[in-house]
Amino acid sequence: MTADQPCPSESEDLERFINGLVKRNPHEPEFHQAVREVAATVMPLIRERADYRKMCVLERMTEPDRIVIFRVTWEDDRGCVRVNRAWRVQFSNILGPYKGGLRFAPTVTQSVLKFLGFEQQFKNALTGLPMGGAKGGANFNPKGKSDREIMRFCQAMMVELHRHIGEDVDVPAGDIGVGQREIGYLFGMYKHLENRFAGVLTGKGTTFGGSFVRTEATGYGCVYFAREMLEHHGEGLEGKRCAISGSGNVAIYAAEKAMRSGARVVTLSDSDGFVHDEAGLDEEKLAYVKELKENRRGRISEYAERFPARFYPDRSPWGVPCEIALPCATQNEIERADAEALLENGCGYVVEGANMPATAEAAEVLRSRGAGYAPGKAANAGGVAVSGLEQSQNALRLSWSHEEVERRLREIMQRIHGQCVAWGERADGTVDYVRGANLAGFVRVADAMLAHGLL
Ligand code: GLU
Repeated sequence: MTADQPCPSESEDLERFINGLVKRNPHEPEFHQAVREVAATVMPLIRERADYRKMCVLERMTEPDRIVIFRVTWEDDRGCVRVNRAWRVQFSNILGPYKGGLRFAPTVTQSVLKFLGFEQQFKNALTGLPMGGAKGGANFNPKGKSDREIMRFCQAMMVELHRHIGEDVDVPAGDIGVGQREIGYLFGMYKHLENRFAGVLTGKGTTFGGSFVRTEATGYGCVYFAREMLEHHGEGLEGKRCAISGSGNVAIYAAEKAMRSGARVVTLSDSDGFVHDEAGLDEEKLAYVKELKENRRGRISEYAERFPARFYPDRSPWGVPCEIALPCATQNEIERADAEALLENGCGYVVEGANMPATAEAAEVLRSRGAGYAPGKAANAGGVAVSGLEQSQNALRLSWSHEEVERRLREIMQRIHGQCVAWGERADGTVDYVRGANLAGFVRVADAMLAHGLL
């Protein structure tokens, strides 16, 4: 640049950066979306900090350390040979061993796993625990598969994955399609191949090195975070209507904690549609949902056959009047029109239990129109936080009580909320949680990066 050329503006810097990213990573829309959101909030800071600019921290943070791509060959119950593709995206081990879940779904692509791994760096940083960021998974559809097929797939996946993980190297956990059953099969195969019992996966059963509260952690943590948000604005959960999407692990335990905190949980959903129960969930209904989804692996529509509730096929719950929305299903499940409907119906808080459930447009609507909007990297960090606590317990070779783990989880969620406020409070006292979470996470990773030198 010559002396008489004007300095590029913030938006020009952002566009130039994003254009380069898109060119380097074509056909990865989810990854572009996640990076753009972070880059837009940290760009002003990068322009102020000559050291961040000079050391290319953002360029380095958006390039994973490595991606391992491999074939998984297995045999189904009919004896047919099946071939899937699997990945482990090791994004950054700046703050600790790579850490992040494995996702099994037909929609898994490299783009999805890169977005998740990228986000995981900041989420893990926010927990304050020593964990780097990673994500993995396979384009394997667990729906309709028998237990033995799931076992064979997990074992076949570990035949390759075991070379790339380790308790001080990379510690995978669960995510969509990977729960305690799958972690059990993966862990068993790791131990068989390596002949060593180590805390190489989290989310294990509590009889073989798992932590209490890991199953509940993401959902519980999300509600603890919501409670902090409400209290910060002088409100409470009691009596508030709470719309929840999903009916997997995150949704079920978010519903449980919200209900037990006095909120009225009025919706749950799955890929077939959603159920609306205006009377709200109670202990009996919750027990039914757990049995339905965790044991029988049935469909949420069955809830409306059992209880006075209505099932809406192929629709999401965001048109239902509520004060709090907890999207706990998957990415991009809230579109612009959904965000508008939520606000029009009086929803004041959107707290993300899933990763990036709002599209960029929807997020902008929620953020700019005064809703308390907490991004997943802050609000759903409870899952990985308890994974971090599981790693600590494994390293110490002991097991903390349910109460002890839950107390630590609550404290971690409170601390994350505090960081969001510290970095995201607006002049009028409201909080920009997106800005707060992005800046707090980014600065922690960036400063550690500078300390490590050029790598
Ligand atoms: N998959 C979860 C997440 O998105 C948990 C990851 C972990 O426990 O490592 O944060």
